[in-house]
Amino acid sequence: MSELARFLEALQSADGDGFCSPPGLPGTWRVRHVRSGLARRVLVEYDAIIAFARNPRHGVCQNCARIRGAECDHCRCSTCVWEREVDDRSGPKATPEQVAQLQAQVRRFQIGRAKAPVVALDAE
Ligand SMILES: [Zn+2]
Ligand SMILES: [Zn+2]
Repeated sequence: MSELARFLEALQSADGDGFCSPPGLPGTWRVRHVRSGLARRVLVEYDAIIAFARNPRHGVCQNCARIRGAECDHCRCSTCVWEREVDDRSGPKATPEQVAQLQAQVRRFQIGRAKAPVVALDAE
């Protein structure tokens, strides 16, 4: 059984508020965020790892496009909706250290996104 298969099997029975380290993704992630990422196809199984999917619907709205370098908070593509979910500070049971760690992971992921394994999603 591959590391990925073992991970996906463990993911099904794991506590949603627990933390896990998916093969291919940097650092630790909340179990429920990895589950919803896979369900939304923001995260995809690719070779023997989990990768971030490139989202063809991702964009910057007209308002934000006018301000150079602005980060658009309004994009409603599945990747951005999921990222906001991951960023949610209201999750139960996490210690402040765990929350800080997770937020640091997400920031690193955003900065290093171009270097992360990426596969294209087929347009639906
Ligand atoms: Zn987006
Ligand atoms: Zn915007």
